[in-house]
Amino acid sequence: MPFSSLQVDHDRGPRALSRVLIIAPHGSYRTGPFIQAARQQGAEVLIASQGKHSIVSEYARGLQINFSDEDQALQTIVTAAQERPFSGIIGTDDSATVLAARAAEQLGLPHNPPQAVQIAARKDMARRCLSQSKVRIPDFRVLDIRRSLPEQLDGVVFPCVVKPVALSASRGVIRVNDTQQLSAAVERIKAILAAESQLPADAGQTLLLEQFISGQEVAVEGMLYDGELDILALFDKPDPMDGPFFEETYYITPSRLSVDIQLAIRDEVQAACHAYGLREGPVHAECRINADGVWILEVAARTIGGLCGRLLTYGTGRQLEEVVLAHAQGRRVTVNQQDGAAGVLMIPIPGAGVLKRVEGLLAAQQIPGVEEVNIQIRDGYELIPLPEGGSYLGFIFARGESSEEVERALRKAHACLNIVIGPLWKVLV
Ligand code: ADP
Repeated sequence: MPFSSLQVDHDRGPRALSRVLIIAPHGSYRTGPFIQAARQQGAEVLIASQGKHSIVSEYARGLQINFSDEDQALQTIVTAAQERPFSGIIGTDDSATVLAARAAEQLGLPHNPPQAVQIAARKDMARRCLSQSKVRIPDFRVLDIRRSLPEQLDGVVFPCVVKPVALSASRGVIRVNDTQQLSAAVERIKAILAAESQLPADAGQTLLLEQFISGQEVAVEGMLYDGELDILALFDKPDPMDGPFFEETYYITPSRLSVDIQLAIRDEVQAACHAYGLREGPVHAECRINADGVWILEVAARTIGGLCGRLLTYGTGRQLEEVVLAHAQGRRVTVNQQDGAAGVLMIPIPGAGVLKRVEGLLAAQQIPGVEEVNIQIRDGYELIPLPEGGSYLGFIFARGESSEEVERALRKAHACLNIVIGPLWKVLV
């Protein structure tokens, strides 16, 4: 569907007769906000997932698909659309975006070329693709975990980052400063991959080894309309991220970088989208900036993770999921940047074990500027830090006049928290 003919939706009133399919892995943080936004727009929602026995009714009532059998999953979706058509299809996470693109293509709904989405979801393919363009990326090589490691390291210059090619949320991403650290990291990642039953076989055997890029990191949230990138928000990540693991912590918008650098970031992300062949829908990118310029670490064809999408509501007055839902149905909503600043702290998991309790919540909530302290993991549940874990302990949201003020509020609120962790006893039978 060409977006030049997009209807610009100035009002936010309910729309009749729309039925949206949301393809999501079970337990995705993004599903809830999409369901809520669709309901606000008066749209009916159907979830496609692997949640037959889910206690969440939207999953249990939805389409049951198997992500590791994409052709069969596609057939299930097409059959459902023949019974009652969808007005738009959204893939929430990297594991769902290719299927969503294929289904939307088959049903004549707005979509990216499935191959472009596939490239964006696979770090090895993405690097190969960008190395043929002018986009600045780290030197890299692809490792085969079945082959001897030393044979594959000819000419490697440390420090490096080694990572799986198809996981997300920094799982298995490890900085290594020498060959010994690299061997240990590869063994650790192998164990993570062995426990991932949904990965395609080749993704479970392939690692990416790339040059460590120092510098300041930013995240970009954007929308593509007919190949043109519209930046919704640029987030500074004010804490140094030097490894060995790369936990996400602070995201603060608007960025305090100069306008020139912000424009260079936009151009670089746009060029990466173009190289992949992405043309439509949400884009989430991570970049590093240093004296050499802007480096692309990753460009994904999906929205930001966790509950962080809500920062966009503070920044633009529009809910991110509302913008994405409208796009999936061939509409473009106008987004205007608001005054003020907003930020989130993805609360770091301080250690492994069982979460006993989080103390100091009330004090954190009372810090001026703090909007919400949201603990996601319940007392008694296991905490798994990076590089193995992929969940967030919780989120602190803040708003203020300036990015500095927001950062201060988040840091103060974090300092109020005492995360009490007990040992984990596993019963071996
Ligand atoms: P994921 O998709 O799992 O989040 P990424 O490749 O985006 O994995 O890496 C996660 C984080 O690890 C990045 O945001 C960055 O902080 C760090 N990182 C990854 N690759 C590099 C690199 N080549 N140089 C420096 N830091 C890196």
